[in-house]
Amino acid sequence: MRVFKFGGASVKNADAVRNVAEIIKNYGQGKLIVVISAMGKTTNAMEAIVESCAKDKSKVSELVKERSDFHIEIMSQLFSSDHPIFDEIDAIFKNLEEYCMTCTVQNQAMIYDQVVSLGEVISTKIVEAFVKDSGLRSKWCDARKIIRTNGNFKDAKIDWEKTKELYKLNMSLDFNRDVDIAITQGFIGGTENGDTTTLGREGSDFSAGILAFVSDSENVTIWKDVPGMLNADPKWFDNTIKLDKISFREAIELSYFGASVIHPKTIKPLQNKTIPLFI
Ligand code: ASP
Repeated sequence: MRVFKFGGASVKNADAVRNVAEIIKNYGQGKLIVVISAMGKTTNAMEAIVESCAKDKSKVSELVKERSDFHIEIMSQLFSSDHPIFDEIDAIFKNLEEYCMTCTVQNQAMIYDQVVSLGEVISTKIVEAFVKDSGLRSKWCDARKIIRTNGNFKDAKIDWEKTKELYKLNMSLDFNRDVDIAITQGFIGGTENGDTTTLGREGSDFSAGILAFVSDSENVTIWKDVPGMLNADPKWFDNTIKLDKISFREAIELSYFGASVIHPKTIKPLQNKTIPLFI
């Protein structure tokens, strides 16, 4: 088993989605878990929807339409107009609008997680449909039914034992049947009661680490549009050096001190099982 992770910039438009499918085809031999973020700046756009839901419901429809149009534009470049994915995504946006218009829940963090998580649900549905159409044996898997967390919305904590069990039940079994590639969401999980949770902004790398841990993966690859991990932030320093190989400890230190190339929580589960991480 291996894990690939693609962030929002790697699925920000139709060409990027094609590129992801090419990478999976060319480098994803064997059994593979693919973790994907929301497309482009969708998480920020979803945050604006949450805000309008709480403060000014008159803006909800317009903001939902703007995000829906963004995804329709991408899909229309990837699929023929009668592809079932259009109805599937449309239904998600309709439910989202209805949820925001009618929701009376007081817990803002809870609303945040129910709404913002849909960015990842939508992106993975689109990418999985495209990967399947390109002839690969893929399956869309629901991370809300695998990554079990507590109810600490916006920064949920992982129940590792339960996640291990749920991985076996809701993903691993598929690999024993006819699935080679499980495509799932980064950043999101679910509670025992069925509420959706999120793991904190930029948390998709962490999801890749969690899934690598519970599946005893051989390695994890975070695909990025940068050359790799540098010894300093190139926005601030001119003469940065690419680090070809570093220890888990150094990676944790660099990420905690701001190396935004990986989310700081990602390394620990990998270190615990000595699972190499490639960037
Ligand atoms: N989509 C989420 C965010 O933008 C999670 C991630 O991309 O890692 O924070």
